[in-house]
Parts: sequence; C-alpha cells; structure tokens
Amino acid sequence: MSPFDLSGRTALVTGANTGLGQAIAVGLAEAGADIVAVGRSAPTETATMVEAAGRKLHAISADLSSTAPIAGVVAQAVEAASAIDILVNNAGIIRRNDSLDFTEEDWDAVMDTNLKSAFFLSQAVARTWVGANRGGKIINICSMLSFQGGIRVPSYTASKSGLAGLTRLLACEWAAKGINVNGIAPGYFSTNNTEALRADESRNRDILARIPAGRWGDPSDLSGAAVFLASDAAAYVHGTVLAVDGGWLAR
Ligand code: NAP
Repeated sequence: MSPFDLSGRTALVTGANTGLGQAIAVGLAEAGADIVAVGRSAPTETATMVEAAGRKLHAISADLSSTAPIAGVVAQAVEAASAIDILVNNAGIIRRNDSLDFTEEDWDAVMDTNLKSAFFLSQAVARTWVGANRGGKIINICSMLSFQGGIRVPSYTASKSGLAGLTRLLACEWAAKGINVNGIAPGYFSTNNTEALRADESRNRDILARIPAGRWGDPSDLSGAAVFLASDAAAYVHGTVLAVDGGWLAR
C-alpha cells in the first residue's frame, strides 16, 4: 500500500469549482479521496473530473465571506460523507489598490474570506475530530505573500501572512491530538486570481524573468504537494508551509 494512497478518505475543499481548488480536488480524487466541494459557484466541471477519476463529489453551496454558514457546512459534510478526513482551506480573494487609497471594505472582505473563515472552518472541523477521538489533516493555501511583502495588496498580504502564522499556531495546539496542520504556498499560477497580472505586459515579463523555472505554474503543479500533506506520508509533518513556486523564494 502506498503511503500516499487516500482511498476511503473524504476531503472537504473550499473554492473547488475553479483554479487551484479544482486542481487540488482532482489530485486528491486521483489519489483515492472522495470530495466535498464547498463554495459559491457550482463545481460542475470539477464534479466531472472527480467522477472521471472514479471518485464521488458532493457539493455544498456556501458563501465563506462570513462565518454564518460554517456550522451548517460541517454538519452537511459529515452527513454526506460520514466523516471528513482532510480539510483544504483554499477559497480566497484579492483586492488591489495603493495602500494610501485602500478602503476598509477591501480590507474586511479579504481578511474575512481568506483568514477568518479559514480559522473558524478549521475549528469546526477539528471539533468533529476531537469529539470522535480521531485525527485529520488541514491544509491552508497560503501564498508567496505569506513570506514577502508584495505591493498594492495590503489586506491580501496581511491575510496570507496571518494564515501562515495560524498554520503554525494550530499545529502547535493540535499536533498531539493527531491533527496535522500545514500550508502550501503557491508561487505564480495561471488562474482567475492572477489574470490582472498576466494581462499587464510589463508585470508579466518581470514575474516570468524572476521565476527560476521560467514559466507560470499550472494548477496541476500543486496536486502532488496536496496529496503528500493529506496522506500518511506526512504523518510527522506539522506546521510547515511548503512552497510550490518554481523556485521563486530561492531567488
Ligand atoms: P480563483 O481562480 O479566483 O479561485 C478562488 C476560489 O475561491 C473560487 O472557487 C472562488 O469561488 C472561491 N471563493 C472566493 N470567495 C469565496 C467566498 N466568499 N465563498 C466561497 N468561495 C469563495 O483563484 P485561485 O488562484 O485558484 O486561488 C485559490 C487560492 O490560492 C486562494 O486562496 C488564493 O489566494 C491562493 N493563491 C493563488 C495563487 C495564484 O497564483 N493563483 C498564488 C498564491 C495563492 P467563485 O468562483 O464562486 O468566486
């Protein structure tokens, strides 16, 4: 049996209808996991891909810009799948503006979705594990801006730096309970989130020139890291944020 095998496990992935969340869901399904996809938009395409991998996808509609749906989401997920084994906090947004002009609305929207909901969803799922005297895996999707400053994205940098800190804190509190909390820090990947950067010719050129691998990441480049952190192979990995960045941070 491969230590990376996820057969019989269920992964709850937020924002799995597109981009990195979709690639993570499909990667986990290809490793054997069923998927509970939680988000605003119907994960129709992802469901087709998960089913093509021979696994099931259960969709739960929820807007994670507030914590209001979280208790209901976890109850529905547990009812549909009998248990959640893996939680991937992937749903996230970005707002761009000069810090001198940045609004409170853009601050709150990003912090609420990227950080507050990730914490309270982790708490709600971890309570089901602790209540059942069992462990589980949490993977937080961080960013290069968990390590670096960036420009014109103050709430995004604050949220992703906060998420990396939270990953370490939760690992410290929950490792002894059999819960592995880790993060993945994607570099620059081609998704909706980075469309504005790729559309800006000079930013696109500067970014590409700095990536040692010489190309933008394809969402499928993240699957291996997600499968690893979700699997028994990572049983003793706690509180790490694994960069999958084509070498960006090594530069
Ligand atoms: P994306 O294509 O814009 O996807 C974002 C996902 O989050 C979508 O499924 C979106 O759902 C969901 N989402 C946003 N707000 C939500 C809300 N209020 N409630 C529920 N779901 C919500 O972006 P992506 O690039 O795949 O980003 C995925 C994660 O990776 C984000 O946390 C992002 O910060 C992070 N990340 C991305 C990159 C990159 O280069 N692309 C790099 C580092 C980190 P809808 O489709 O319904 O809006």
